[in-house]
Amino acid sequence: MKTSLKTFTCWGCGNCCRGDGYVQVTDADTASMAALLAISVETFTERYTVLKRNRRGLTLRDQADGACIFLKADGACAVYEARPQQCRDFPYKWNYPGWENLCENSCSLEKEKPKSNATPRE
Ligand code: SF4
Ligand code: SF4
Repeated sequence: MKTSLKTFTCWGCGNCCRGDGYVQVTDADTASMAALLAISVETFTERYTVLKRNRRGLTLRDQADGACIFLKADGACAVYEARPQQCRDFPYKWNYPGWENLCENSCSLEKEKPKSNATPRE
């Protein structure tokens, strides 16, 4: 069955946390992640975020390969419990053309064992 918002299940592959795009973070997101990591907001901001090009807000840093700084090797999110709202809202409140293919193709090997996990980049 073709994936749609009605039939969508997240398999937790973390593929949507890789590649192009960015994760914008709000003050509330930053505070939640800093608390989870038991560090100050200032330390979190310095260590894990960068200023957007338009200088209006912060985004999470990328790893060298372009993946989100919090994406782990197994596809899980290192701050899952405190992940940004942007991540929580995908794909229900925002998505982009072809998001279904990303989930279907990247997760075909994971479909034996659905798990909660990550979410994506705008
Ligand atoms: S690509 Fe789709 S199925 Fe995989 S983690 Fe992201 S939202 Fe979930
Ligand atoms: S769910 Fe986690 S790993 Fe994925 S983009 Fe959001 S913060 Fe990064």
